[in-house]
Amino acid sequence: MVDVPKTADIVIVGGGVHGASLAFHFARKKAGRIVLIEKKFIASGPTGRSTALVRRFYAMDFFTRTASAAAEMFRHWKDVVGGDGDPGFQQVGMLVLAGPDTAPYLRHNALRARELGAGVALLSPAEVKALVPAARVDDVALASYEAESGYADPSSTANALVNRARDLGATIIQYRRVDAIRIAGSRVIGVRTESEDIDAPVVVNCGGLWADRLLRPLGIEVSITPTRHQMCFFRRPGGFGAHPAVADMVQVTYMRPEHGDLTIHGVLSYDEVVDADHYNEGVDPDEIVRNAELIARRFPVMEHGLAMGGYSGLYDATPDHHPVLGPIPEYAGLYADFGWSGHGFKHSPFIGDILSDVVLHGKAKDYDLTPFRWSRFREGDLVPPARWTAPPHPKHRL
Ligand SMILES: Cc1cc2nc3c(=O)[nH]c(=O)nc-3n(C[C@H](O)[C@H](O)[C@H](O)COP(=O)(O)OP(=O)(O)OC[C@H]3O[C@@H](n4cnc5c(N)ncnc54)[C@H](O)[C@@H]3O)c2cc1C
Repeated sequence: MVDVPKTADIVIVGGGVHGASLAFHFARKKAGRIVLIEKKFIASGPTGRSTALVRRFYAMDFFTRTASAAAEMFRHWKDVVGGDGDPGFQQVGMLVLAGPDTAPYLRHNALRARELGAGVALLSPAEVKALVPAARVDDVALASYEAESGYADPSSTANALVNRARDLGATIIQYRRVDAIRIAGSRVIGVRTESEDIDAPVVVNCGGLWADRLLRPLGIEVSITPTRHQMCFFRRPGGFGAHPAVADMVQVTYMRPEHGDLTIHGVLSYDEVVDADHYNEGVDPDEIVRNAELIARRFPVMEHGLAMGGYSGLYDATPDHHPVLGPIPEYAGLYADFGWSGHGFKHSPFIGDILSDVVLHGKAKDYDLTPFRWSRFREGDLVPPARWTAPPHPKHRL
């Protein structure tokens, strides 16, 4: 058991993949005594249940740039992170399918992403069929394809970052809850844990689903809605072979290969709100049937596939489905990195780099976090939808 230090230069609350990334980048930048505190174990929250797609483009410049930079980190992990850890990155490719209604937006967003340097190609339905012969494409008008994208292992990624942070001098404390962020006037002075206080001038809240609970007593109201997402496993029949990760915007589903001949499949949007501490972690029988029908509609050979159960994970959904990221200016020394609303894994290795610069130097070169301030919800200045097929919006150039 690691002793809880009495003082630190920076305390990070939460050992999901975002807290892990920050710990690594602070330690790499020799930012002083870094302490990460996790109430359970590393990646025990939504991170551990992530589908962990690593892909490169959005309808919004900010996310295209952070996703692309992070994807490059996954591809060159040994060189840029180092240590013994391995995020388990599998470069299986990433296909996005659009129907006639959204094809113009997919084209627009993919071409903009290309201008920003993201490796993305546009494919006709016939080219999709040539790439994945098992796919039905009669309802597809256009597709995008990222040959260098894929997926990673979320738990291995968080642990690789945390272990590297520890190698570089950070203190990682597990099974210890932060009960309060301590303040004096308009400054942060540390945290209160179950048994001991830690004095620190900087606290970063990476508490995911639970982040709002630490902020509410400080008068910072951010709504985090725990939303249950169900993922189903299917065994592919012989002859199907390998397939890339697929976001099917016609059926509004997504899937990727899992170990062996398994495919993991889910629906992109759910609205079942649950208690983050007590929810059904399994998959509903009806949901397996629905997913089986959807996957067989896209890949008819899957009528011969086997349903292999599934699990549920939670999204920490904010009102606009985008994160709260950057300083909480009401309290000097208080920062946020939470509320990624189901799309935070892919950006995580790079977001720690940006946010650690903001904490240490007041700003990050080439990145403005202002659109992600917590007060946008109070001000009604929301960040617009930014999925691949979102229609153009002036804020997408942020
Ligand atoms: C089913 C599913 C599929 C997903 N698929 C993808 C995908 O394909 N691609 C993608 O980019 N993203 C995906 N996501 C989203 C992604 O996994 C999350 O955005 C990301 O993992 C969030 O990481 P985090 O570190 O912010 O939060 P979390 O993983 O929630 O970590 C927060 C941690 O803080 C700890 N904590 C909270 N409060 C305290 C406290 N008071 N004291 C101490 N510790 C505390 C918690 O125990 C937890 O471990 C998916 C999510 C789910 C659930």
